[in-house]
Amino acid sequence: MSEPTGEDCLFCRIVAGALPAQVVGESRHCLAFRDIDPAAPTHVLVVPRRHVPDLASLAAASPDELADAVALAARVADDAGLPGYRTVANTGAAAQQSVFHAHLHVLGGRTLSWPPG
Ligand code: 5GP
Repeated sequence: MSEPTGEDCLFCRIVAGALPAQVVGESRHCLAFRDIDPAAPTHVLVVPRRHVPDLASLAAASPDELADAVALAARVADDAGLPGYRTVANTGAAAQQSVFHAHLHVLGGRTLSWPPG
């Protein structure tokens, strides 16, 4: 099965402004917006503007863009005043990845248990 790209990709459409999202930050390579179904008081998605299916693909394509995503996640957490936060990247359907455009979940604002489910 081929992965969606461009106009078929939900996050590409958000990055392009073709679908609405609550944007909370941006950087040279990435956009940060609130998850539509939050799992914590702060639940933001950091997505690269470039379409790649997962985080490892982003690292392989452009380490700078991966670093930019991690830095934006930290800025989102700082802007939200979080004392700590969790970044999650689900990779593959077996790990519950549902949107095949690389993204970091930034979660915080409640007690986060370990290990995650
Ligand atoms: P994944 O399951 O791939 O790790 O994460 C995808 C995330 O995208 C989910 O947490 C889901 O709630 C979120 N999501 C799905 N559709 C939309 C949408 O249309 N807008 C926003 N803001 N988030 C979405």
